[in-house]
Amino acid sequence: MPKINVLSKNVAELIAAGEVVERPASVVKELVENSIDAGACSITVEIKGGGILFLRITDNGCGIEREDVPTAFLRHATSKIKNEIDLNAIGTLGFRGEALCAVAGVSRVEMLTCTENSISGTRYVIEGGEQLAFEDAGCPKGTTIIVRDIFYNVPARMKFLKKDVTEGNAVAAIMERIALSHPEISFRFIRDSKSVFVTKGDGNLKNAVYSVLGREFASNLIEVNGETDGIKVKGLVSKPINCRTSRSGQFFFLNSRFVKSGTVTAALEQAYKNTIMVGKFPCAVLNVSVPFGSVDVNVHPAKTEVRFSDERAVFNAVYYSVKNAITFSDTRPEATFKSSAVNPFARMTAQEYKQTANVGANTKPRSFEYVPPTKKEETSFTLSDVIKAQQQTVKIEMPEIRVEGQAEAAPEPPIVLEKAEVQNTAVNKAEAPETKIAEETKSQKEVRYIGEALKTYIIAECENEVYLIDKHAAHERINYERLKSTEEIAVQALLTPVAVTLPSDDYILITENGDKISEAGFEIEDFGNNSVLVTAIPQMLTGLDVQTLVFDLAESLSETKTAVLPAQERIFHTVACKAAIKAGYNTSAYELERLASRVINDDSIMYCPHGRPVAIRLTKNEIEKQFGRIQ
Ligand code: ADP
Ligand code: MG
Repeated sequence: MPKINVLSKNVAELIAAGEVVERPASVVKELVENSIDAGACSITVEIKGGGILFLRITDNGCGIEREDVPTAFLRHATSKIKNEIDLNAIGTLGFRGEALCAVAGVSRVEMLTCTENSISGTRYVIEGGEQLAFEDAGCPKGTTIIVRDIFYNVPARMKFLKKDVTEGNAVAAIMERIALSHPEISFRFIRDSKSVFVTKGDGNLKNAVYSVLGREFASNLIEVNGETDGIKVKGLVSKPINCRTSRSGQFFFLNSRFVKSGTVTAALEQAYKNTIMVGKFPCAVLNVSVPFGSVDVNVHPAKTEVRFSDERAVFNAVYYSVKNAITFSDTRPEATFKSSAVNPFARMTAQEYKQTANVGANTKPRSFEYVPPTKKEETSFTLSDVIKAQQQTVKIEMPEIRVEGQAEAAPEPPIVLEKAEVQNTAVNKAEAPETKIAEETKSQKEVRYIGEALKTYIIAECENEVYLIDKHAAHERINYERLKSTEEIAVQALLTPVAVTLPSDDYILITENGDKISEAGFEIEDFGNNSVLVTAIPQMLTGLDVQTLVFDLAESLSETKTAVLPAQERIFHTVACKAAIKAGYNTSAYELERLASRVINDDSIMYCPHGRPVAIRLTKNEIEKQFGRIQ
């Protein structure tokens, strides 16, 4: 064993510095946090060459007294805590007294600082831990720190730095988080002489989001402001329709400090369940405030993952705050017309009109497209996409049973529409009502049924708005809500039990999930030899082919792509879908009218269980605009 040496102070400090300073982004984080702790309301960060060559942080905070400047660069020098009692009530971001020492140890640092009451400021230069200048300087109140050539004296560390662009991006990410967590401070971020963003610093989170993440991100957010058990949850979340294909739009803060937390992520996403498509993620800028002391604040400054002493309480606070916000402020997507250079609806000259008239049937008016208000590519879909999606649904559905002698109307299971309040009382199995229609109450908005388009979309009118409702999606969602909320699902006993033989994998799935399947209203017994005996099915599926239903259940249980959902949900989805009226098939006007009224009057019927919108709105205003009646 080689001899044990005590490391020289210099080497030991370099090792310690490496823990605080990993890359330019961590330097920026530490220094900006110092500025925030110094009470600054305006902070400018400028970087060049990814921050490796040059970075400058200027603040208008309290500054440092002349005699304290060299001390601030010593290890464990801090003005923020004096003793261990203070440790328990930490209100500042930094408190370890390591940052300045570490940064100065591995780069060339120049500081200009001036406090309010001092006549002149101080200039201090320190390179590789060695003091080079300590003198008077004229400068405004506040502190400016310039850091050049990070790791110039530690080649081993220098090697680990990535390309300038990558390091610069990491700084940008840190700046975004900090600016979003402090809307009350005005941040200016300049990268390679170009201004990246400037926040107002007026305390309005929406304005900060607008400056940092852009107009599109900011224009479709819902405010969240909730509190449960002393845990406050405040911020902004996206409307379900504007979700992204990744979690890149999620920013969480704990007491205004950027954190990552599996619990908060899960609670957020859970709150959107059944309102967004599988594989889409909500955007959020959320600050969770917990009383000081209930989190381990002594987490390493470079680590962002936090643990709460009561994870469940945090989950609930986030979940309910977000869920409430979505429920109360989400509105149905509104259809607008894409403005294009050629607008066939624009007013024409007489000459143009004649020309168009001559072409006759060849000129087709442009079809209207649904454009979500964000106009974001990832969230926009056209009406034809909706139809396509609908057709796909139709494809996987079981063949329709035709009742002989019924020439026209395709037989459909009866539409069972119930009000949410009614759902809570369990439907007695013996009762098994045939058709239940939503009870009309005084508060119901009057809905005028106009007709059905493409055998799929109900057209209805209500309070100066025209609705297009996807009949299958709407009915599917209503069924799904019923399945989820009734304690006992209405079941239909079969006159003759049906034996179904399955492939062995499916047989195992069905028998293993027996309880869950019976929750949905099936009565299925294990018949042995890869067979099951079905004695009852959910009442809403009356008339459908039993064997096909069992196959569908097995399929939904084996689907790997939707495996994110628990088996029970998948069974409910399947039943809700099978029981729903289908696109492309005939449905009576009476039923469609009832469906429209239910959907328009119940804001919880906004998305189908797969997250597709149930209805889109066309406002009178938008229609009039298109016809040139108004500007
Ligand atoms: P910590 O932030 O953990 O206290 P630092 O090494 O980051 O340790 O800073 C040391 C001290 O220097 C701080 O406690 C503070 O008193 C002072 N300081 C650092 N940056 C600034 C600044 N921008 N404005 C005013 N004081 C500062
Ligand atoms: Mg600090």
